[in-house]
Amino acid sequence: MPSASLSAYRKKRDFSKTREPKGRPRKSGRAHAFVVQKHRASHLHYDFRLEVGGVLKSWALPKGPTLDPKERRLAVQTEDHPYEYKNFEGTIPPGNYGAGEVIVWDRGTFRAADGEEEVAKGLRKGALSIVLHGKKLRGSYSLVRLKRPRQWLLIKKNDEYASSRDVTRNDRSVKSGRRLPDRKPARSA
Ligand code: MN
Repeated sequence: MPSASLSAYRKKRDFSKTREPKGRPRKSGRAHAFVVQKHRASHLHYDFRLEVGGVLKSWALPKGPTLDPKERRLAVQTEDHPYEYKNFEGTIPPGNYGAGEVIVWDRGTFRAADGEEEVAKGLRKGALSIVLHGKKLRGSYSLVRLKRPRQWLLIKKNDEYASSRDVTRNDRSVKSGRRLPDRKPARSA
């Protein structure tokens, strides 16, 4: 079944050339997934994704997530990704959209602070409160849309999981234990 939500995702990719999933929307019912993928493309960033309506709503975090309520992390909304993308780890070949390396930096489940039916509404309104149950990220966060298009802030709320510790120093994949490989050295001496 064609999915309007995933059409931008599919248009950017040639699935004969990349091992990323083509995907289809998933029927809901179970606990909703979240994933954070660390992605070294043209720039290093983290992709924060929440399962909403059978797809992964997605934001790119240039500086990654934080445990510190005093920090607000820019989160630029990107195209919806298929649910299966949450397990994707590996290489996106050169010449393809997002070419580079991806690891599953964190994953788990989340719930909306105000109930499941509030998630889609919160995304439309531009203010969403969620509670994450991941390996590295836990507790309450909010996503708040700025006035500029597609730009949000991811903010840690003050709770027992709040900390000034830099959580991105824990840089291994929760799926494989791998780290992103070091960037290949430039060819110039
Ligand atoms: Mn990315």
